Amino acid sequence: AAQPPQPHITILPSPGLGHVTPLLELANHLVTHHSFKVSFLLYPSDSSTASDQLCRPATLPSDLHIIDLPPPDFSNIAVDDNDFVSHPPIPPVCTLIIDHPVTVLVVDMFFIDAIDVANELSIPTYLFFTSSTNLLAFSFYFPTLDQELNGDFSDLQMINIPGCKGMPVTDMFDILFDRRVLPMITRFAEVAGILVNTWEELEPITLHAMRENPFFVQRPPATATPPVYTVGPVIKMNEPVTETTHRCLTWLDKQPQNSVVYVSFGSGGTLSSEQIIELAWGLELSKQRFIWVVRRPIDSNASATYFGGDGENNPVEYLPEGFLGRTKEVGLVVPSWGPQVAVLSHLSTGGFLSHCGWNSVLESIPNGVPMIAWPLYAEQGMNSWFLVEDIGVAVRAVGAEQRSVMRREEVARVVRMVVEGEEGKVTRCRTIELQQSAKRALDCGGSSSLSLSQVAQSWKTQPKN
Ligand code: UDP
Repeated sequence: AAQPPQPHITILPSPGLGHVTPLLELANHLVTHHSFKVSFLLYPSDSSTASDQLCRPATLPSDLHIIDLPPPDFSNIAVDDNDFVSHPPIPPVCTLIIDHPVTVLVVDMFFIDAIDVANELSIPTYLFFTSSTNLLAFSFYFPTLDQELNGDFSDLQMINIPGCKGMPVTDMFDILFDRRVLPMITRFAEVAGILVNTWEELEPITLHAMRENPFFVQRPPATATPPVYTVGPVIKMNEPVTETTHRCLTWLDKQPQNSVVYVSFGSGGTLSSEQIIELAWGLELSKQRFIWVVRRPIDSNASATYFGGDGENNPVEYLPEGFLGRTKEVGLVVPSWGPQVAVLSHLSTGGFLSHCGWNSVLESIPNGVPMIAWPLYAEQGMNSWFLVEDIGVAVRAVGAEQRSVMRREEVARVVRMVVEGEEGKVTRCRTIELQQSAKRALDCGGSSSLSLSQVAQSWKTQPKN
């Protein structure tokens, strides 16, 4: 009998490493474990070679095709340093889908409007959510909250999403209340299903709440929350091995177990000169070992910006005088880009001072590395609250939520605490418990593995268009 045609999935990530890498990993998994053919549509990247290598690995399975899109046309887009608001226009998926008929379209949050193209072609759209269930639940609840408060959030103290733990507004940065995201997030309810990069035991309460409370009920056109599938942690498995990777790993090999704090603010986080100086002094005062991925300071904004770019980066120009010499026995300074997954999976790494981007969270916990939460922008404040107050895998760098400059004494305190303090020990134990639950979720028969198989199976039985 003739073989049925191989199901073809088109995946549309939005630009930015935090979006492209988990979706590419998902693509890889769908091809390797579920025999799909996948087209992965990619806008050209304007970032560093290191991050570009991550988006375009040298080897890919033969059924995974990266399709290069023409550079996006930003002429009609207002550019904002808030990546929740400004993102490139929907690429021309339509012609690609017609040329190579697809079974299912998987989109990233910023490209939710591609659902219109899929609807015209009677193809179901699934959303792959690259952040936490907390943010997803908030996205579903926000339109209701906005309606209830008439768009005025000034007196709001706590966010009480039905069925979830209350979250203080001070832990959520203002941009989460940016009403310009409403048209985008209200459309999340229109998809056939949502795949979330999390696992059941990480966010049980919020997942339960999402499944039980149809937050959207009173908002047309959707009537209920679409099915939510937990498929994570989906994290990059292979990093390109560079000279920096080699340098970091050789250095880590010589350090005691759990003794090194890895310091990094994600693919885009940058600090002011003043903050970099305080952080350097704090690391030095802590007398702990560290690997620090440093970016050139951006001083146009007092604390942090996203689309800063790094250009030429010589840390001697902006680190305190003599810092590199004085700390050379205990620290390694890596300009611009660090092999994060390789460092976090090394046994000598005992803490992660992080901006709490969701991918960083998902890379830290499954490696049993407790965090120091230092959120900078976007939903990182919410992630930080979750890590510290809800699941207890991070200690809080006090002051980050005020976006003021973190002083050296506080940096030294939290770095010492995570490596050798009592609170650090408790945090490490909790991280190890969740590390084990992540492993169970991904194992054959585990919750995430079953959930993805269930979705994959439903895609295979999808009527052909
Ligand atoms: N990353 C890395 N090296 C760096 C900085 C970032 O490998 O020096 C990777 C990191 O491992 C993660 C991603 O970039 O996979 C950052 O994603 P996250 O969601 O943590 O933060 P974002 O960059 O989106 O703010």
